[in-house]
Amino acid sequence: MDVKTNTDIYEKLHALARDLWWAWQPEVVSIFRDLNPIKFQQLGHNPVMLLKEFTRQELENRATELMLHSRVNWAYRRWQEYLKSDETWGATHTGLLGNQPVAYFSAEFGIHESLPNYSGGLGVLSGDHLKSASDLGVPLVAVGLLYQEGYFHQTVDAQGRQQESYQRIDTDHLPVELVRTAEGDEKIIAVQTRGGDIFARIWKVKVGRVLLLLLDTHLPQNTDENQRLTDRLYGGDQLKRIRQELLLGVGGARALQAMEIRPSVVHMNEGHSAFAPLEYIRQLMHEDGRTYDDAIRDVSAMSVFTTHTPVPAGHDRFDASLIEEHLGPLGDMIGLDHNGLMGLGRVDPQNPEEPFCMTVLAFKLSQCANAVSNLHGVVSRRMWSHLWPWKNEKEIPVGHITNGVHVPTWLSAQMRMLYDRVLPEGWSTRTGEPEVWSGFEKVLPGELWETHQSLKNRLIQYARVNASAQAKRRGEKPDQIERLQSALDARVLTIGFARRFAPYKRADLILRDLSEFRRIILDAERPVQFIFAGKSHPADENGKAILQRIFKLMQTPEFNGRVIFLEDYDINLARHLVQGVDVWLNNPRRPLEASGTSGQKVVLNGGLNCSILDGWWAEAFDGENGFAIGEGRSHANHDIQDDRDAIALHDVLVNEIIPLYYDRDDDDLPQAWIGRMKRAVRTLGWRFNADRMVMDYVQSTYIPAAGGTSCDLNSVH
Ligand SMILES: *Cc1c(COP(=O)(O)O)cnc(C)c1O
Repeated sequence: MDVKTNTDIYEKLHALARDLWWAWQPEVVSIFRDLNPIKFQQLGHNPVMLLKEFTRQELENRATELMLHSRVNWAYRRWQEYLKSDETWGATHTGLLGNQPVAYFSAEFGIHESLPNYSGGLGVLSGDHLKSASDLGVPLVAVGLLYQEGYFHQTVDAQGRQQESYQRIDTDHLPVELVRTAEGDEKIIAVQTRGGDIFARIWKVKVGRVLLLLLDTHLPQNTDENQRLTDRLYGGDQLKRIRQELLLGVGGARALQAMEIRPSVVHMNEGHSAFAPLEYIRQLMHEDGRTYDDAIRDVSAMSVFTTHTPVPAGHDRFDASLIEEHLGPLGDMIGLDHNGLMGLGRVDPQNPEEPFCMTVLAFKLSQCANAVSNLHGVVSRRMWSHLWPWKNEKEIPVGHITNGVHVPTWLSAQMRMLYDRVLPEGWSTRTGEPEVWSGFEKVLPGELWETHQSLKNRLIQYARVNASAQAKRRGEKPDQIERLQSALDARVLTIGFARRFAPYKRADLILRDLSEFRRIILDAERPVQFIFAGKSHPADENGKAILQRIFKLMQTPEFNGRVIFLEDYDINLARHLVQGVDVWLNNPRRPLEASGTSGQKVVLNGGLNCSILDGWWAEAFDGENGFAIGEGRSHANHDIQDDRDAIALHDVLVNEIIPLYYDRDDDDLPQAWIGRMKRAVRTLGWRFNADRMVMDYVQSTYIPAAGGTSCDLNSVH
């Protein structure tokens, strides 16, 4: 064995582990897993931690034992080629950005379960955006915060009450690296407030070709209170919230400046980062000697804002004293007095009663704004029309780009093999083209069905192991633990429901008629089983009550392992669920689900959506590529709407879904069902993926914003 190879394997594996590119390469994931499957799982699929278990010599021995050398060399070479390649979509479509990247600001990034810097859909969407930008070769640098404790971990006690706990992360265990000065010191940025400066250091994370910068205030020069600023995501009061947002927007822009990165476009993913344009106004005035009027015009021309929710509580509002304390110093630097500042965050600048709203600020400081689905565009234009009182609703300058998911992240390895066989060569670099997906029609029904069944079995196995271990931990009776060890049945129609337990998502809609629910579950010939998961925000008592109600069904012996609740919904659990269910249930109170993305992950893997015609599904459903609950109506009275939707849900289940699923041919294949699976992949795959989404952002927003031309979204709606 020559020494050079020894060095190589060790260095190469460590290098691969420190670029999150590995997370969407199944071949690289399997190298890490093979090194020690049990440890890899125990360590939350974190290869940086896994590799710490091995000395150089041990790693070499293990690699030899498993004959890993050629796999590692291959992976490493592919990675190098990926990083170097100039034959990307971006190379031919982003020339107008010049050499200046897009700066993408987001409060959370969900890239992989081993970097717990996200709470839910918004974070996973940001993560998928970065991965697609990387794959497409779109020059983009992302900015966020590094939370020492991330979002909470969920357990549920024996009474069904959600318990929250926080785990401190150790940056030594993450693929992060400090940004340093030429002298080797930590690079520190500062943001002024009336009460003193807030300092932060900058961590770099590699996400393929994309650089992600995360700020962290855990520094001795900060007050104790400010040191805790970046401990938790969405875990504080208004004071902490505005400081986090100040850090994200102003601090983030300063971090880029400190690294001499001058963006061509500022993309605010949700209003949390809406202070960023104010800092860019300051930079233009102070460094380039521009007037305020020139600076605000140029900064809004280069700013893109994506709004993500029609739920009123989803829009941050701050009172005047918080704004004065935190934005006063920046206002002084750009010549805005208190009223001038407040005016930017108010619909009516003159109204002293109006609090400062981050969404209003973002709209006022960006020439280009978008919602995240067609229907959400309609709702957002109505919701914010008072910002443009001189325009009629159709002219409100808020377009839409529908969310999509990153295909290599969410597509199972088994299903990918099917894609490789029936889609044209190179399909994975052309996922935005409808023709590429039409090849899926060629899949043989039996093959598709058995692939799906194997994924479903994997999910059931996973659910049994975890549900029974969780029951054991909460001290449940042996017969209940035993029941969970053999819960669920691969022959039974399996419906998944996993998302945040926010009341508008109505996890309990199916329980509105409990006796019907019981009848459906326990039907002797055509039974149904459910797997639920999801966290409720710690302060959301209504959400927790819904969770408790669902949870108690699992403890009801009568349901005999046909209703399962799995704790601590995260990216890993999401992957198992979206890859293994037959049906994905989504029943929000229309029109409150701006887009939703989990159902798109299900599509890729052959599952069928059963959803209210809200968010992405309102534009996706064509009558045969899944199932619709109701006809897309809303009602001012929640009770009436909920009753009506519960009946519609029951109807579609009993009259369409269950009969179709159990209608088998002589080979025990549900041919009509399989037809729908194929149709779903073919008609939805090309549209609801993140490559298409990022290409839309580039062409309709980034390029116009960088070129100072008006953004193209108005034609989209
Ligand atoms: C995809 C995903 C979400 C978003 O789901 P919705 O459909 O928007 O509710 C939330 N959490 C996790 C862990 C996800 O993977």
